[in-house]
Amino acid sequence: MNNERMTIHSTTIPGEIRSALRGVTTLVCMILAFSARAESENDPPARWWKGNMHTHTLWSDGDDYPEMVARWYRERGYHFLVLSDHNVLQNVDRWTNPATNRGGIRALKRYEETFGTDWVVSRQVGDQTEVRLRTLGEIQAALQQPGSFILIPGEEITSRYLTAPVHMNASNVQSLIRPATGDSVLEVMQKNVDLVWEQRRQTGEPILIHLNHPNFGWGVTAEELMQVRGENFFEVYNGHPAVHNTGDNIHAGTERMWDIILTWRLAVLGMEPMYGVATDDSHSYFTDSPDASISGRGWVTVRSAELKPAALIEAMERGDFYASSGVEIDSMRWEKGETLFVRPKAVDGETFLFRFIGTRRGFDRTNEKIRASSGDALRITHRYSDDVGEILKESRGTEAHYTPSGDEIYVRCYIESSMPQEFPLHEDDRQRAWLQPVVYGPAE
Ligand SMILES: [Zn+2]
Ligand SMILES: [Zn+2]
Repeated sequence: MNNERMTIHSTTIPGEIRSALRGVTTLVCMILAFSARAESENDPPARWWKGNMHTHTLWSDGDDYPEMVARWYRERGYHFLVLSDHNVLQNVDRWTNPATNRGGIRALKRYEETFGTDWVVSRQVGDQTEVRLRTLGEIQAALQQPGSFILIPGEEITSRYLTAPVHMNASNVQSLIRPATGDSVLEVMQKNVDLVWEQRRQTGEPILIHLNHPNFGWGVTAEELMQVRGENFFEVYNGHPAVHNTGDNIHAGTERMWDIILTWRLAVLGMEPMYGVATDDSHSYFTDSPDASISGRGWVTVRSAELKPAALIEAMERGDFYASSGVEIDSMRWEKGETLFVRPKAVDGETFLFRFIGTRRGFDRTNEKIRASSGDALRITHRYSDDVGEILKESRGTEAHYTPSGDEIYVRCYIESSMPQEFPLHEDDRQRAWLQPVVYGPAE
């Protein structure tokens, strides 16, 4: 209908009918408003959903079929899983040769035993047998259970600058992102983040991008990551054995990087906070060796009313989630303006170390570059004062409180259980959780 016709109609409707129509319109609006309220009262309450956002399969360099991988997570009680293969989406026609692929004949055997030979699609090419990799849509149809387990499309956008790996995961990606390159690590990250945001604008679908394993190949420094616009998530914990979560004698660990990034973003750069995720980055599904990248080491737990990609991403963008390598939260009060409180779920005799970490206003901003013996600055996270990411309070027990003193820029909480991690990366690794920062801001 165009404007001209609308005008004609309104002038030809007698006044009393027009006012009656206005009454009907008002009534309809009231009904709509009431049903909207009624609907919100009937909305399911927010609850916690457990998911892994970084997983590999035979679609790239994992050693098992994607259905097998998804089934493992579903059976272990995960609610969502992002299959994030390198630079590929599972939506094309792809065949694999079990005689030469990473899974080998044993993967094919286990796959056939589990899903049945009717499900496994194979063909002969010369004297070789090939198996078709099932697409995400097919896997979703076979394995998803609405309200209890979903598969979210993903891609590990795998790029580099010179020898520095720059890997970023796009969760709920709608079409393949071809990895961008650039003239610095920062530029490579920014260009890939921009591509994701461009797709997000075009599709209207929320897509979450997070930086993977910053210390893999010592790829990304805190100073580089803090500057990326539109990138507010990174892996504070990644279960792959080659990623140096804890750094080394000259490289900062990921927790130290997190505090540096939070402090500089919030107090110096005027940017959004950075949130920490934990992931498996699993590739190996036929071993339980600590030296392999196996499943079950790191995940996120997200608070949302619905188990849907958009709802989960929106919750994560509000910081309404925590990262875990075993610790599960039973109850928490985690809001600005309140005494912070957290109580993990515990088994008999289990206790926890609670470490509240933050930076106060007026912190010492001095930091120094790490230099080679020649005096040249190295591309390594700078060394900062102890004011950055100060331990504000440490306690042991089964629950913990923190009352802000009023000068904190942010406060986050690290929790370590007395119980060993189920699939430890290092022998003495305990179950841990990382709560997201509560941001108070740089000014009063
Ligand atoms: Zn990677
Ligand atoms: Zn990966």
